[in-house]
Amino acid sequence: MTDLTTLGITAIRDGVRDGQFKAREVAEAFNAKVAGARALNAFLVETPDHALAAADAADAARAAGETLKPLAGVPIGMKDLFATKGVATTAASKILEGFVPPYESTVSQNLWNAGAGMLGKLNLDQFAMGSSNETSAFGNVISPWRRPNDTAPLAPGGSSGGSSTAVSAGLAPGATGTDTGGSIRQPAAFTGISGIKPTYGRCSRWGTIAFASSLDQAGPMARDVRDCAIMLEAMAGFDAKDATSLKLDVPNWEAALSADLKGKKVGVPKEYRVDGMPAEIEALWQQGIDWMRDAGAEIVEVSLPHTKYALPAYYIIAPAEASSNLARYDGVRYGLRDLPEGAGLQDMYAATRAAGFGDEVKRRILIGTYVLSAGFYDAYYTQAQKVRTLIARDFERAFGECDVLLTPTAPSAAFALGEKQADPLAMYLNDVFTVPASLAGLPAMSVPGGLDKDGLPLGLQIIGKALDEQGVLNASLAIEQRAGFTARPQAWW
Ligand code: GLN
Repeated sequence: MTDLTTLGITAIRDGVRDGQFKAREVAEAFNAKVAGARALNAFLVETPDHALAAADAADAARAAGETLKPLAGVPIGMKDLFATKGVATTAASKILEGFVPPYESTVSQNLWNAGAGMLGKLNLDQFAMGSSNETSAFGNVISPWRRPNDTAPLAPGGSSGGSSTAVSAGLAPGATGTDTGGSIRQPAAFTGISGIKPTYGRCSRWGTIAFASSLDQAGPMARDVRDCAIMLEAMAGFDAKDATSLKLDVPNWEAALSADLKGKKVGVPKEYRVDGMPAEIEALWQQGIDWMRDAGAEIVEVSLPHTKYALPAYYIIAPAEASSNLARYDGVRYGLRDLPEGAGLQDMYAATRAAGFGDEVKRRILIGTYVLSAGFYDAYYTQAQKVRTLIARDFERAFGECDVLLTPTAPSAAFALGEKQADPLAMYLNDVFTVPASLAGLPAMSVPGGLDKDGLPLGLQIIGKALDEQGVLNASLAIEQRAGFTARPQAWW
Protein backbone atom coordinates (compact mmCIF):
# COMPACT_ATOMS: atom_id res chain seq x y z
CA MET A 1 0.00 0.00 0.00
CA THR A 2 1.17 3.56 -0.71
CA ASP A 3 2.71 5.48 2.13
CA LEU A 4 -0.17 7.84 2.86
CA THR A 5 2.22 10.54 4.07
CA THR A 6 3.48 10.98 0.52
CA LEU A 7 0.06 12.34 -0.45
CA GLY A 8 -0.94 15.97 -0.58
CA ILE A 9 -4.23 17.59 0.39
CA THR A 10 -5.97 16.95 -2.94
CA ALA A 11 -5.04 13.26 -3.02
CA ILE A 12 -6.05 12.74 0.60
CA ARG A 13 -9.38 14.54 0.18
CA ASP A 14 -10.21 12.60 -2.99
CA GLY A 15 -8.95 9.27 -1.62
CA VAL A 16 -11.05 9.54 1.53
CA ARG A 17 -14.10 10.59 -0.46
CA ASP A 18 -13.66 7.72 -2.95
CA GLY A 19 -13.02 5.16 -0.24
CA GLN A 20 -9.44 4.34 -1.30
CA PHE A 21 -8.39 4.57 2.34
CA LYS A 22 -9.84 5.63 5.65
CA ALA A 23 -9.25 9.08 7.09
CA ARG A 24 -8.17 7.33 10.27
CA GLU A 25 -5.35 5.58 8.43
CA VAL A 26 -4.18 8.93 7.11
CA ALA A 27 -4.20 10.54 10.55
CA GLU A 28 -2.39 7.57 12.08
CA ALA A 29 0.28 7.67 9.39
CA PHE A 30 0.94 11.38 9.87
CA ASN A 31 0.82 11.12 13.66
CA ALA A 32 3.55 8.48 13.44
CA LYS A 33 5.61 10.66 11.11
CA VAL A 34 5.34 13.60 13.50
CA ALA A 35 6.41 11.48 16.46
CA GLY A 36 9.35 10.14 14.47
CA ALA A 37 10.69 13.55 13.46
CA ARG A 38 11.22 15.25 16.81
CA ALA A 39 14.85 15.91 15.89
CA LEU A 40 13.58 18.63 13.54
CA ASN A 41 11.86 20.46 16.43
CA ALA A 42 9.04 21.49 14.11
CA PHE A 43 6.22 20.86 16.58
CA LEU A 44 5.88 22.59 19.95
CA VAL A 45 2.81 20.53 20.85
CA GLU A 46 1.61 17.30 19.26
CA THR A 47 -2.15 16.75 19.16
CA PRO A 48 -2.62 13.25 17.70
CA ASP A 49 -6.06 12.89 19.28
CA HIS A 50 -7.34 16.02 17.54
CA ALA A 51 -6.28 14.59 14.18
CA LEU A 52 -7.84 11.20 14.97
CA ALA A 53 -11.14 12.71 16.12
CA ALA A 54 -11.51 14.72 12.90
CA ALA A 55 -10.59 11.63 10.89
CA ASP A 56 -13.18 9.51 12.66
CA ALA A 57 -15.79 12.17 12.00
CA ALA A 58 -14.91 12.07 8.29
CA ASP A 59 -15.08 8.27 8.17
CA ALA A 60 -18.41 8.28 10.01
CA ALA A 61 -19.84 10.90 7.64
CA ARG A 62 -18.80 8.80 4.66
CA ALA A 63 -20.25 5.64 6.17
CA ALA A 64 -23.53 7.50 6.70
CA GLY A 65 -23.56 8.54 3.05
CA GLU A 66 -23.22 12.25 3.84
CA THR A 67 -21.53 14.72 1.54
CA LEU A 68 -18.03 15.18 2.87
CA LYS A 69 -16.72 18.55 3.96
CA PRO A 70 -14.02 20.18 1.81
CA LEU A 71 -11.14 19.08 4.04
CA ALA A 72 -12.68 15.92 5.49
CA GLY A 73 -9.92 13.53 6.48
CA VAL A 74 -7.10 16.03 5.93
CA PRO A 75 -4.81 16.50 8.94
CA ILE A 76 -2.82 19.72 9.06
CA GLY A 77 -0.23 21.49 11.19
CA MET A 78 -1.17 24.76 12.93
CA LYS A 79 1.39 27.52 13.37
CA ASP A 80 1.56 28.27 17.06
CA LEU A 81 0.52 31.86 16.46
CA PHE A 82 -3.13 30.79 16.18
CA ALA A 83 -4.99 30.48 19.46
CA THR A 84 -6.40 26.98 19.78
CA LYS A 85 -8.98 26.27 22.45
CA GLY A 86 -7.63 24.03 25.17
CA VAL A 87 -4.25 23.59 23.43
CA ALA A 88 -1.19 25.49 24.67
CA THR A 89 -0.38 28.50 22.47
CA THR A 90 2.86 30.38 23.02
CA ALA A 91 3.95 32.15 19.80
CA ALA A 92 7.27 30.46 20.68
CA SER A 93 7.78 32.92 23.53
CA LYS A 94 8.45 32.26 27.19
CA ILE A 95 6.11 35.08 28.04
CA LEU A 96 3.17 32.92 26.94
CA GLU A 97 4.43 29.71 28.51
CA GLY A 98 1.50 27.95 30.11
CA PHE A 99 -1.14 29.95 28.23
CA VAL A 100 -4.03 27.74 27.19
CA PRO A 101 -6.54 29.80 25.19
CA PRO A 102 -10.19 29.50 26.19
CA TYR A 103 -11.13 30.32 22.59
CA GLU A 104 -10.34 29.28 19.03
CA SER A 105 -8.95 31.61 16.35
CA THR A 106 -11.28 32.19 13.42
CA VAL A 107 -8.84 30.73 10.89
CA SER A 108 -8.35 27.50 12.86
CA GLN A 109 -12.10 27.27 13.55
CA ASN A 110 -12.77 27.67 9.82
CA LEU A 111 -10.40 24.78 9.12
CA TRP A 112 -12.07 22.54 11.72
CA ASN A 113 -15.47 23.50 10.30
CA ALA A 114 -14.18 22.35 6.91
CA GLY A 115 -13.35 18.95 8.39
CA ALA A 116 -9.59 19.27 8.91
CA GLY A 117 -7.87 17.82 11.97
CA MET A 118 -4.82 19.13 13.83
CA LEU A 119 -1.55 17.21 14.08
CA GLY A 120 -0.05 19.77 16.42
CA LYS A 121 1.17 23.31 16.99
CA LEU A 122 4.14 24.36 14.92
CA ASN A 123 7.29 26.12 16.07
CA LEU A 124 8.06 29.60 14.70
CA ASP A 125 10.17 32.64 15.26
CA GLN A 126 9.13 34.23 18.51
CA PHE A 127 5.97 36.32 17.88
CA ALA A 128 6.66 35.67 14.17
CA MET A 129 9.68 38.00 14.27
CA GLY A 130 12.49 36.53 12.23
CA SER A 131 13.52 34.84 9.02
CA SER A 132 15.25 31.70 10.25
CA ASN A 133 13.31 30.34 13.24
CA GLU A 134 16.25 31.09 15.48
CA THR A 135 14.31 33.51 17.65
CA SER A 136 12.02 30.75 19.04
CA ALA A 137 12.34 30.43 22.81
CA PHE A 138 11.97 26.67 22.43
CA GLY A 139 14.91 25.99 20.13
CA ASN A 140 15.12 26.56 16.42
CA VAL A 141 13.51 24.33 13.86
CA ILE A 142 16.05 22.47 11.72
CA SER A 143 15.38 22.30 8.01
CA PRO A 144 14.97 18.77 6.68
CA TRP A 145 17.21 19.87 3.78
CA ARG A 146 20.99 19.57 3.85
CA ARG A 147 23.77 20.41 1.46
CA PRO A 148 25.38 17.34 -0.10
CA ASN A 149 28.02 15.67 2.10
CA ASP A 150 27.47 18.30 4.73
CA THR A 151 25.62 17.84 7.99
CA ALA A 152 25.52 21.58 8.83
CA PRO A 153 21.96 22.35 9.95
CA LEU A 154 20.17 24.79 7.66
CA ALA A 155 17.50 27.38 8.42
CA PRO A 156 13.97 26.36 7.40
CA GLY A 157 13.15 30.04 6.85
CA GLY A 158 10.99 32.11 9.10
CA SER A 159 8.89 32.90 10.75
CA SER A 160 6.74 29.94 9.62
CA GLY A 161 9.70 27.53 9.76
CA GLY A 162 7.86 24.83 11.67
CA SER A 163 5.19 24.92 8.98
CA SER A 164 7.68 24.78 6.10
CA THR A 165 9.56 21.94 7.74
CA ALA A 166 6.45 19.92 8.55
CA VAL A 167 5.21 20.10 4.96
CA SER A 168 8.54 19.56 3.21
CA ALA A 169 9.52 16.66 5.49
CA GLY A 170 6.15 15.00 4.90
CA LEU A 171 4.96 15.40 8.50
CA ALA A 172 1.80 17.17 7.33
CA PRO A 173 0.18 17.60 3.91
CA GLY A 174 -0.46 21.26 4.69
CA ALA A 175 0.08 23.80 7.42
CA THR A 176 -1.06 27.28 8.30
CA GLY A 177 1.38 30.13 8.11
CA THR A 178 1.22 33.83 8.78
CA ASP A 179 2.95 36.49 6.74
CA THR A 180 3.73 39.97 7.99
CA GLY A 181 6.69 40.67 5.73
CA GLY A 182 7.34 37.34 4.05
CA SER A 183 6.90 34.64 6.66
CA ILE A 184 4.87 32.34 4.43
CA ARG A 185 6.76 32.93 1.20
CA GLN A 186 10.40 32.88 2.34
CA PRO A 187 10.16 29.61 4.35
CA ALA A 188 8.20 28.04 1.48
CA ALA A 189 11.02 29.01 -0.89
CA PHE A 190 13.71 27.66 1.47
CA THR A 191 12.07 24.25 1.72
CA GLY A 192 10.72 23.63 -1.77
CA ILE A 193 7.00 24.00 -1.05
CA SER A 194 4.25 26.45 -2.01
CA GLY A 195 2.64 29.14 0.10
CA ILE A 196 0.31 32.04 -0.51
CA LYS A 197 -0.33 35.19 1.46
CA PRO A 198 -3.78 36.39 0.38
CA THR A 199 -4.90 40.00 0.11
CA TYR A 200 -4.88 41.74 3.49
CA GLY A 201 -8.30 41.19 5.02
CA ARG A 202 -9.14 37.87 3.31
CA CYS A 203 -8.34 35.83 6.42
CA SER A 204 -9.55 36.97 9.78
CA ARG A 205 -6.89 38.01 12.29
CA TRP A 206 -9.16 37.26 15.23
CA GLY A 207 -7.43 34.92 17.63
CA THR A 208 -4.13 35.15 15.76
CA ILE A 209 -1.48 36.52 18.09
CA ALA A 210 -0.78 40.00 16.78
CA PHE A 211 2.63 41.10 15.55
CA ALA A 212 1.96 44.07 13.22
CA SER A 213 -1.78 44.32 12.74
CA SER A 214 -1.80 46.33 9.50
CA LEU A 215 0.40 43.69 7.84
CA ASP A 216 -0.42 40.32 9.45
CA GLN A 217 -2.20 37.85 7.15
CA ALA A 218 -2.73 34.12 7.48
CA GLY A 219 -2.31 31.76 4.55
CA PRO A 220 -1.69 28.13 3.62
CA MET A 221 1.60 26.32 3.05
CA ALA A 222 1.35 23.06 1.15
CA ARG A 223 2.96 20.87 -1.47
CA ASP A 224 1.48 22.47 -4.55
CA VAL A 225 -0.68 25.25 -5.87
CA ARG A 226 -3.93 23.27 -5.91
CA ASP A 227 -3.45 22.20 -2.29
CA CYS A 228 -2.91 25.85 -1.35
CA ALA A 229 -6.08 26.90 -3.20
CA ILE A 230 -8.15 24.28 -1.38
CA MET A 231 -6.78 25.19 2.01
CA LEU A 232 -7.10 28.95 1.47
CA GLU A 233 -10.77 28.55 0.54
CA ALA A 234 -11.31 26.96 3.94
CA MET A 235 -9.28 29.55 5.87
CA ALA A 236 -10.63 32.76 4.30
CA GLY A 237 -13.92 34.54 4.79
CA PHE A 238 -15.54 37.55 6.40
CA ASP A 239 -15.43 37.71 10.18
CA ALA A 240 -17.30 40.39 12.10
CA LYS A 241 -14.82 39.96 14.95
CA ASP A 242 -11.98 41.46 12.89
CA ALA A 243 -12.57 45.10 11.95
CA THR A 244 -10.25 44.78 8.93
CA SER A 245 -11.87 41.60 7.61
CA LEU A 246 -13.17 42.01 4.05
CA LYS A 247 -16.90 41.55 3.60
CA LEU A 248 -16.60 39.42 0.50
CA ASP A 249 -17.54 35.91 -0.49
CA VAL A 250 -14.70 33.43 -0.82
CA PRO A 251 -14.22 32.56 -4.49
CA ASN A 252 -13.93 28.96 -5.60
CA TRP A 253 -10.25 29.27 -6.44
CA GLU A 254 -9.67 25.59 -6.98
CA ALA A 255 -12.41 25.27 -9.59
CA ALA A 256 -11.02 28.19 -11.59
CA LEU A 257 -7.39 27.03 -11.62
CA SER A 258 -5.87 27.34 -15.08
CA ALA A 259 -2.26 27.42 -16.19
CA ASP A 260 -3.14 28.99 -19.52
CA LEU A 261 -1.82 32.56 -19.43
CA LYS A 262 -2.83 33.57 -22.94
CA GLY A 263 -3.84 37.22 -23.00
CA LYS A 264 -2.15 37.87 -19.65
CA LYS A 265 0.70 40.26 -19.06
CA VAL A 266 3.42 39.42 -16.59
CA GLY A 267 5.39 42.35 -15.23
CA VAL A 268 9.06 42.10 -14.35
CA PRO A 269 9.99 44.92 -11.97
CA LYS A 270 13.43 46.20 -12.83
CA GLU A 271 14.16 47.51 -9.33
CA TYR A 272 14.16 43.94 -7.99
CA ARG A 273 17.50 43.42 -9.72
CA VAL A 274 19.28 44.33 -6.51
CA ASP A 275 23.02 44.79 -6.21
CA GLY A 276 24.89 41.65 -5.39
CA MET A 277 22.06 39.33 -6.38
CA PRO A 278 23.58 35.86 -6.83
CA ALA A 279 23.83 34.70 -10.46
CA GLU A 280 21.75 31.64 -9.61
CA ILE A 281 18.83 33.80 -8.53
CA GLU A 282 19.12 35.88 -11.73
CA ALA A 283 19.13 32.68 -13.77
CA LEU A 284 16.10 31.32 -11.93
CA TRP A 285 14.23 34.55 -12.51
CA GLN A 286 15.06 34.43 -16.23
CA GLN A 287 13.88 30.84 -16.31
CA GLY A 288 10.61 31.94 -14.72
CA ILE A 289 10.20 34.63 -17.38
CA ASP A 290 10.68 32.00 -20.09
CA TRP A 291 8.10 29.75 -18.45
CA MET A 292 5.56 32.58 -18.31
CA ARG A 293 6.11 33.24 -22.00
CA ASP A 294 5.74 29.54 -22.71
CA ALA A 295 2.41 29.59 -20.86
CA GLY A 296 1.17 32.22 -23.29
CA ALA A 297 1.83 35.40 -21.32
CA GLU A 298 3.35 38.57 -22.63
CA ILE A 299 6.29 39.86 -20.61
CA VAL A 300 6.53 43.57 -19.83
CA GLU A 301 9.19 45.41 -17.88
CA VAL A 302 7.67 47.57 -15.17
CA SER A 303 9.07 49.99 -12.63
CA LEU A 304 8.42 50.06 -8.89
CA PRO A 305 10.63 53.05 -8.12
CA HIS A 306 10.22 53.08 -4.32
CA THR A 307 11.24 49.45 -3.84
CA LYS A 308 14.49 50.35 -2.12
CA TYR A 309 12.62 52.14 0.66
CA ALA A 310 10.34 49.20 1.41
CA LEU A 311 12.65 47.40 3.79
CA PRO A 312 13.50 50.44 5.94
CA ALA A 313 9.83 51.45 6.03
CA TYR A 314 8.80 47.94 7.04
CA TYR A 315 11.37 47.83 9.82
CA ILE A 316 9.86 51.01 11.26
CA ILE A 317 6.17 50.21 10.81
CA ALA A 318 6.28 46.56 11.90
CA PRO A 319 8.22 47.25 15.14
CA ALA A 320 6.02 50.29 15.86
CA GLU A 321 2.89 48.15 15.72
CA ALA A 322 4.60 45.34 17.58
CA SER A 323 5.61 47.61 20.44
CA SER A 324 1.99 48.56 20.87
CA ASN A 325 0.56 45.05 20.39
CA LEU A 326 3.01 43.48 22.80
CA ALA A 327 2.22 45.95 25.59
CA ARG A 328 -0.49 43.54 26.70
CA TYR A 329 2.04 41.01 28.02
CA ASP A 330 2.42 42.44 31.47
CA GLY A 331 2.33 39.44 33.77
CA VAL A 332 -1.29 40.12 34.71
CA ARG A 333 -3.39 38.57 32.00
CA TYR A 334 -1.50 35.82 30.23
CA GLY A 335 1.29 33.33 30.71
CA LEU A 336 4.44 34.17 32.61
CA ARG A 337 4.47 36.30 35.78
CA ASP A 338 7.71 37.27 37.44
CA LEU A 339 6.94 38.79 40.83
CA PRO A 340 10.15 39.38 42.74
CA GLU A 341 9.99 39.40 46.56
CA GLY A 342 8.38 42.62 47.76
CA ALA A 343 7.98 43.97 44.21
CA GLY A 344 5.38 46.51 43.19
CA LEU A 345 3.26 46.50 40.06
CA GLN A 346 5.82 48.31 37.88
CA ASP A 347 8.57 45.95 39.04
CA MET A 348 6.40 43.00 38.10
CA TYR A 349 5.82 44.38 34.60
CA ALA A 350 9.53 44.97 34.15
CA ALA A 351 10.65 41.63 35.56
CA THR A 352 8.05 39.68 33.58
CA ARG A 353 8.90 41.36 30.31
CA ALA A 354 12.65 41.10 30.91
CA ALA A 355 12.36 37.38 31.58
CA GLY A 356 9.66 36.57 29.07
CA PHE A 357 10.66 38.26 25.80
CA GLY A 358 13.57 37.10 23.66
CA ASP A 359 16.29 39.44 22.36
CA GLU A 360 14.77 39.99 18.90
CA VAL A 361 11.39 40.82 20.40
CA LYS A 362 13.02 43.26 22.81
CA ARG A 363 14.95 44.84 19.94
CA ARG A 364 11.71 45.44 18.07
CA ILE A 365 9.89 46.80 21.10
CA LEU A 366 12.76 49.25 21.63
CA ILE A 367 12.83 50.33 17.99
CA GLY A 368 9.06 50.57 17.87
CA THR A 369 8.81 52.61 21.04
CA TYR A 370 11.56 54.91 19.80
CA VAL A 371 9.97 55.60 16.40
CA LEU A 372 6.62 56.30 18.06
CA SER A 373 8.07 58.58 20.75
CA ALA A 374 7.05 62.25 20.75
CA GLY A 375 10.32 63.63 19.42
CA PHE A 376 10.83 61.10 16.63
CA TYR A 377 7.32 60.18 15.51
CA ASP A 378 7.27 62.46 12.47
CA ALA A 379 10.85 61.76 11.49
CA TYR A 380 10.38 58.00 11.42
CA TYR A 381 6.85 56.71 11.74
CA THR A 382 5.07 59.36 9.67
CA GLN A 383 7.78 59.18 7.01
CA ALA A 384 7.51 55.41 6.85
CA GLN A 385 3.75 55.63 6.41
CA LYS A 386 4.25 58.05 3.52
CA VAL A 387 6.70 55.65 1.94
CA ARG A 388 4.15 52.89 2.38
CA THR A 389 1.62 54.90 0.40
CA LEU A 390 4.16 55.51 -2.36
CA ILE A 391 4.92 51.80 -2.55
CA ALA A 392 1.23 50.96 -2.82
CA ARG A 393 0.95 53.55 -5.62
CA ASP A 394 3.92 52.02 -7.44
CA PHE A 395 2.06 48.73 -7.54
CA GLU A 396 -1.17 50.37 -8.68
CA ARG A 397 0.66 52.02 -11.53
CA ALA A 398 2.46 48.80 -12.49
CA PHE A 399 -0.82 46.89 -12.49
CA GLY A 400 -2.07 49.35 -15.09
CA GLU A 401 0.40 47.65 -17.40
CA CYS A 402 0.30 44.01 -16.30
CA ASP A 403 -1.81 41.40 -14.52
CA VAL A 404 0.75 39.86 -12.16
CA LEU A 405 4.39 40.44 -11.25
CA LEU A 406 7.13 37.84 -11.28
CA THR A 407 10.15 38.12 -8.96
CA PRO A 408 12.42 35.80 -6.98
CA THR A 409 11.06 35.05 -3.49
CA ALA A 410 14.31 35.45 -1.58
CA PRO A 411 17.81 36.67 -2.44
CA SER A 412 19.40 33.30 -1.62
CA ALA A 413 18.73 29.66 -0.86
CA ALA A 414 18.54 28.54 2.77
CA PHE A 415 21.52 29.64 4.84
CA ALA A 416 23.11 27.74 7.69
CA LEU A 417 21.70 28.15 11.17
CA GLY A 418 23.83 30.66 13.05
CA GLU A 419 25.15 32.27 9.87
CA LYS A 420 23.16 35.50 10.13
CA GLN A 421 22.02 35.39 13.72
CA ALA A 422 24.56 37.91 14.99
CA ASP A 423 23.76 40.42 12.25
CA PRO A 424 20.17 41.65 12.31
CA LEU A 425 20.64 43.71 9.15
CA ALA A 426 21.81 40.72 7.12
CA MET A 427 18.81 38.84 8.46
CA TYR A 428 16.39 41.67 7.57
CA LEU A 429 17.75 41.73 3.99
CA ASN A 430 16.16 38.33 3.44
CA ASP A 431 12.82 40.07 3.21
CA VAL A 432 13.82 42.44 0.43
CA PHE A 433 11.54 40.84 -2.19
CA THR A 434 8.62 39.92 0.05
CA VAL A 435 8.11 43.07 2.12
CA PRO A 436 6.82 45.41 -0.63
CA ALA A 437 3.72 43.28 -1.34
CA SER A 438 3.07 43.11 2.41
CA LEU A 439 3.19 46.90 2.76
CA ALA A 440 0.71 47.18 -0.13
CA GLY A 441 -1.54 44.42 1.24
CA LEU A 442 -1.35 42.47 -2.03
CA PRO A 443 -1.70 38.71 -2.56
CA ALA A 444 1.62 37.00 -3.23
CA MET A 445 2.74 33.41 -3.57
CA SER A 446 5.99 31.49 -3.63
CA VAL A 447 6.36 28.35 -5.73
CA PRO A 448 9.45 26.18 -6.09
CA GLY A 449 11.39 27.06 -9.24
CA GLY A 450 14.44 24.84 -9.04
CA LEU A 451 17.53 23.92 -7.05
CA ASP A 452 20.74 25.85 -6.50
CA LYS A 453 24.23 24.43 -7.03
CA ASP A 454 24.06 22.74 -3.61
CA GLY A 455 20.76 21.08 -4.41
CA LEU A 456 18.75 23.47 -2.22
CA PRO A 457 15.32 24.78 -3.28
CA LEU A 458 14.80 28.24 -4.75
CA GLY A 459 11.42 29.94 -5.02
CA LEU A 460 9.75 32.26 -7.49
CA GLN A 461 7.23 34.83 -6.33
CA ILE A 462 4.04 35.94 -8.06
CA ILE A 463 2.47 39.18 -6.78
CA GLY A 464 -1.08 40.03 -7.82
CA LYS A 465 -3.61 42.84 -7.74
CA ALA A 466 -5.67 43.23 -4.59
CA LEU A 467 -8.26 40.40 -4.42
CA ASP A 468 -6.81 38.64 -7.47
CA GLU A 469 -5.70 35.48 -5.69
CA GLN A 470 -6.93 33.63 -8.76
CA GLY A 471 -4.44 35.38 -11.00
CA VAL A 472 -1.67 34.65 -8.52
CA LEU A 473 -2.60 30.98 -8.21
CA ASN A 474 -2.90 30.55 -11.97
CA ALA A 475 0.45 32.13 -12.80
CA SER A 476 2.00 30.05 -10.00
CA LEU A 477 0.42 26.93 -11.47
CA ALA A 478 1.97 27.74 -14.85
CA ILE A 479 5.39 27.86 -13.16
CA GLU A 480 4.72 24.68 -11.18
CA GLN A 481 3.81 22.73 -14.31
CA ARG A 482 6.94 23.82 -16.09
CA ALA A 483 9.37 23.59 -13.20
CA GLY A 484 8.42 19.95 -12.56
CA PHE A 485 9.87 20.33 -9.09
CA THR A 486 9.83 16.95 -7.36
CA ALA A 487 12.91 17.16 -5.13
CA ARG A 488 12.35 16.12 -1.53
CA PRO A 489 14.75 16.17 1.38
CA GLN A 490 16.34 12.80 2.18
CA ALA A 491 15.33 11.72 5.69
CA TRP A 492 18.32 11.93 8.07
CA TRP A 493 16.32 12.65 11.22
N1 GLN B 1 11.20 38.24 8.53
C1 GLN B 1 10.28 39.32 8.69
C2 GLN B 1 10.40 39.87 10.08
O1 GLN B 1 11.21 39.41 10.80
C3 GLN B 1 8.88 38.89 8.41
C4 GLN B 1 8.26 38.13 9.49
C5 GLN B 1 6.85 37.77 9.20
O2 GLN B 1 6.39 37.87 8.07
N2 GLN B 1 6.13 37.38 10.26
O3 GLN B 1 9.68 40.75 10.47
